[in-house]
Amino acid sequence: MESRQIGEVSRRGGWRGSSNSIATLLRYRIPWSQQRQCKACRRIAVRGYDVCVRHLGRRPLHSPAFGRGESRLLAKLERRGLLPSDLMAMPAWRDLADQRCKVRAPMRLALLQAWDKRHAEPLQWAKVQRQALGIVRQAGPQ
Ligand SMILES: [Zn+2]
Repeated sequence: MESRQIGEVSRRGGWRGSSNSIATLLRYRIPWSQQRQCKACRRIAVRGYDVCVRHLGRRPLHSPAFGRGESRLLAKLERRGLLPSDLMAMPAWRDLADQRCKVRAPMRLALLQAWDKRHAEPLQWAKVQRQALGIVRQAGPQ
């Protein structure tokens, strides 16, 4: 017996291929002309706002912003055993652990770079260290 004869509906395309799904999509589809657009760049606006995702100022968690790049680099160095344990034991490094990634990662990278040159440029090393401790003091535990 062929499926046509028993009224079976083809499942090709999954739920998207179902005639009911298509009808629902069409019913709730917003025409482009009525779609709310970002007042800054005319991309599609976020629901409940009159700006797009970019101009809302939120970014995806894994974007290179917010110190993710620095954080990844530090994680890589740590895995390879390239982070000096003397540096990691210092209060300036340790206390940054409580800070948000976007504060912590770039500051730790700066510490690492200054640490590498601490004998040639002790003043720079002291300055970066003070800067790190200053961040912790100013922000307090997050
Ligand atoms: Zn926009």
